[in-house]
Amino acid sequence: MKAIDCPCGHRLEGADDEELFRLAREHIERDHPEMQRTDGQLRERVAADAYDLEPAQ
Ligand SMILES: [Zn+2]
Repeated sequence: MKAIDCPCGHRLEGADDEELFRLAREHIERDHPEMQRTDGQLRERVAADAYDLEPAQ
């Protein structure tokens, strides 16, 4: 599992960068519609900021 923290404090968790990208896109559209991010910008953020998550428990 990988995760990425949104500046609002919301943590997105996904199996890989592709899922994080999809979740980030959904999260931004729902919670931050004022953030005008292109797909390319979003993928760059995921590539730069995503981190590996310890398995739960
Ligand atoms: Zn957010």
